[in-house]
Amino acid sequence: MKKKERLSVFDIFKIGVGPSSSHTLGPWRAALHFVNRIEHYAFDRIQIDLYGSLSKTGRGHATDIAIILGLSGYDPEQIDTSKIDDIIHKIRAKERLALLQRSIPFDFSKDIVYNESSLEFHPNGMKLTIWNNFEIQHSETYFSTGGGFIICASESDDESKQHVLPFPIDNGEDLIQHTDMQGQSVSEIVWQNELAFRTRVEVVEGMEKIFRTMQEAVFRGCHSEGELPGGLGVKRRARLLSLKLLDGVKCDNFQNWISAIKNSRYTFSNVNKWVSCFALAVNEENAALGRIVTSPTNGAAGVIPAVLLYHHCFGENIQKDDTLKFLLTAGEIGCIFKKGATISAAEGGCQAEIGVSSAMAAGGLTEILGGSPRQVLMAAEIAMEHHLGLTCDPIGGLVQVPCIERNAMGAMKAITAAHLALSGEPVHAIVKFDTVVQTMWETAQDMNLKYKETAEGGLAIKIPVGLPNC
Ligand code: SF4
Repeated sequence: MKKKERLSVFDIFKIGVGPSSSHTLGPWRAALHFVNRIEHYAFDRIQIDLYGSLSKTGRGHATDIAIILGLSGYDPEQIDTSKIDDIIHKIRAKERLALLQRSIPFDFSKDIVYNESSLEFHPNGMKLTIWNNFEIQHSETYFSTGGGFIICASESDDESKQHVLPFPIDNGEDLIQHTDMQGQSVSEIVWQNELAFRTRVEVVEGMEKIFRTMQEAVFRGCHSEGELPGGLGVKRRARLLSLKLLDGVKCDNFQNWISAIKNSRYTFSNVNKWVSCFALAVNEENAALGRIVTSPTNGAAGVIPAVLLYHHCFGENIQKDDTLKFLLTAGEIGCIFKKGATISAAEGGCQAEIGVSSAMAAGGLTEILGGSPRQVLMAAEIAMEHHLGLTCDPIGGLVQVPCIERNAMGAMKAITAAHLALSGEPVHAIVKFDTVVQTMWETAQDMNLKYKETAEGGLAIKIPVGLPNC
């Protein structure tokens, strides 16, 4: 039985740094949490233990870098991402880490331990331990449970501390009951729940910031060239695709670029290429440790921006509050998957990342295109149904191949699912939304461990590359 959590859509959409929400953002947040715990201790050494999937793909997913940045006090939402290489280079060169204004010796090859074993609770486990004069002073175990969520093993899980929402939602059925009873849309119900967490202004401004960050990631990705880091030799493609689609016209800011796209040819083929281009751009940024929004994870961060920009560039009758309604709806669908199944690839493979993001985008698009609540859930169901069983097999343990292209596929499936649902009759749907959530979770449990973000199966072992995790 999955735990009932009261989640905000801001728990699903987090501004962070690539390449992975479970292997980068989660460990980063765990390190920040640990720093707050050790303020009053004397220490002269720290040891970082990684377990399970964090150990197997941690190097490729920059887990080591994320933890060091967290221990150094950097905030993933604020850090100037162009400085990360420099910060890490200095720590490596000096073999010293500034932790709470104390400079301690630090050797990446000795003080980070990649354990063969897994911890019992979750495949993404890590332990941080401080020592003084060869004696352990304090130690905490964390689990990164996907989408940047973390659990500190020593903290009690007090459900009484949870927010009281006017419309508690644990599954699709709950959501439909509320929309029926109130005669309101999905986004109207979710909006009222969000007001239990934040003020109106905070919700609106927070969502605007989320969309702005997504747009910036798309624009940066479409205007950056070169090879992605990690040694796999993957070349960025979004920039060339964008240039080609605009017949070589260059734009120096986002608004001009969007205007040029809107004025370009509206053929099916071009629209299809633009959606792919938007998705590739975000995930190339993600792979390059750029700033993106987890939606619900970093590896799947391109799907939602691609579908939102598809609507803004090629949609009809666009309304001012479309983005807000889209994100509220998509976020709630992500929350239901987190509660009823998983958004962690280490638990459920890629169906938990790209599958969930596609379902979220399908629901969000259906909502703003005027779909009923049942059509919203039907769209989300269709999108997930066609991702069931999708394995996670990142080559070289990097979030690049097949991850970047998978975002384009997830976005296109979301658009198709939304249009199928909008022209369909939910009453005739054979598979209900809650059934697909449950099926995804059961498929996750049946999936062989090697397909759960270990880089030990599938494409990950078919392509010989000389990378640390291969
Ligand atoms: S294969 Fe899918 S789940 Fe695995 S790292 Fe890539 S995007 Fe994430």
